[in-house]
Amino acid sequence: MQETITTLKEANVLQEGHFLLTSGRHSGQYLQCAKIFQDPQLSEKFCKQLANIFQKDNVDTVIGPAIGAIIISYETSRQLGVKNIFTERDANGKMCLRRGFNISKGERFVVVEDVITTGGSVREVIDVVKEAGGEVVGVGCIVDRTGGKIDFGFPFKAVVSVEVVSYEANECPLCKMGVSIEKPGSRK
Ligand code: ZN
Repeated sequence: MQETITTLKEANVLQEGHFLLTSGRHSGQYLQCAKIFQDPQLSEKFCKQLANIFQKDNVDTVIGPAIGAIIISYETSRQLGVKNIFTERDANGKMCLRRGFNISKGERFVVVEDVITTGGSVREVIDVVKEAGGEVVGVGCIVDRTGGKIDFGFPFKAVVSVEVVSYEANECPLCKMGVSIEKPGSRK
């Protein structure tokens, strides 16, 4: 776990500093999960850990919500030697299968996501699978932001757990120390 945190910091996925979050809160850390997938070797390494977790579950297909989970779904499925598909939103914002993807009755799925904060998208993917007659054998993600507190009703495994602490602007200890603040993503 600690080794993974170090890897995330080295890859600039987990940044340390003083950040203004979109919520308006301040934080000493910022997580940019998409940066994992700009490095194919890092993607392979993390997805291998996920693939290993679900190796014995007779998985037929890996599925995840576009866009964030397309690469992790592909790479995890490649390592399991199974199929992969992704869900996306229709014009009304409803999560669904498009592009001719379909689900067979009894088809066994692992649902994957890059980072889980509220789990909203994952729950929508689970509903898509169940409504089509598929079975969910588990949920996997690279980074769990919930500290393991989320319950999908299926086994849930993460490669790493990172709880990012944030503060109201007027209570931020970094502001009190006079550390200059930046918007995430502004750093190269
Ligand atoms: Zn601050």
